[in-house]
Amino acid sequence: MDTSTPLDLSLRKATVERRKRPGHRCLGRQRDNHFALLIGVPTACFSAAQLRSLAEIVDRYARFSHLTTAQSVLLVGIAPQHYEPARQAVRQAGFQIRSVGRDLFHVKCCPGGDFSPFGLQRTFDLVALIEEYFRGLPTPQKIKIALSGCPNCCANSRLSDFGLHAVVNGWKLYIGGRMGYAPLIGQELAGPISSDAVPGYLAAVLRVYRELAEPNERLFRTLERIGLDDFRQRVEGLRNEPYDDLVEEAARSRKALEEGFTLADQDKQTLSSVGSEEKVFQPGKKNLCGNGRDEEPRQLGKNDQPLLAEQPLKAPGGQ
Ligand code: SF4
Repeated sequence: MDTSTPLDLSLRKATVERRKRPGHRCLGRQRDNHFALLIGVPTACFSAAQLRSLAEIVDRYARFSHLTTAQSVLLVGIAPQHYEPARQAVRQAGFQIRSVGRDLFHVKCCPGGDFSPFGLQRTFDLVALIEEYFRGLPTPQKIKIALSGCPNCCANSRLSDFGLHAVVNGWKLYIGGRMGYAPLIGQELAGPISSDAVPGYLAAVLRVYRELAEPNERLFRTLERIGLDDFRQRVEGLRNEPYDDLVEEAARSRKALEEGFTLADQDKQTLSSVGSEEKVFQPGKKNLCGNGRDEEPRQLGKNDQPLLAEQPLKAPGGQ
């Protein structure tokens, strides 16, 4: 089996340049000259209604959807002219549009004590709360959060910037983990702590990180410079402080990402180059992962409903 693929140096360079820009970032142009959208729902628990909406969106606008290791759904193979309609459809269907920029990402979790026989604490409610309060908050570099319902750490909590795993009497908190080419295990910051104490700890960690980090510095690097003991001392001094300002900032930031940001505004050059390069998939050549459709979007038949972007969808799963 030949798995080699040619290097696309210009695309690689353009992607690196995009990453250097401050603020939110959505996924940009991909190797097939199409675009990708990263979407999801809190706790990664999809209702049947959400899955039906997702199937319809993929059918209308994308080549396929890929389940990522971070519990998001990647819509791949969106033609440039369908990018904005796809974004609208995703939002109308109640999905989050997920950032890959410098902010607090969605929270990864395992099923925890609601379902797992090994669960010592319930994960879903706490994950939903953390996302409601802090998702999208701008940070010097991305912040990945993960919750696991027991020390087995199925959600890779200790490989996250801010990770928690449950114990009998609460949660153990780790910071400074990372995955990637040089994985790092997070260091224990506190524990056991109660569920109610988690948002205060997170707010304090975020404040200290935002204050002390160099531009574009990931949390583990800040910890290397400052030292865990100093960092912990600062966090302990702040963890009982109110954090309404962070919650408000995160809400504004999410709104900007989901409503104000358009790829066309941010990446006009990329989009125009796509229009002129238009090589895309070879007709008749079925992609192993794809649905084998050719370049043009599926034409609506007489029995089809109007495009999702033109009609509001029912709110999926009662959310
Ligand atoms: S981390 Fe524990 S509770 Fe969560 S899925 Fe794994 S075994 Fe179950």
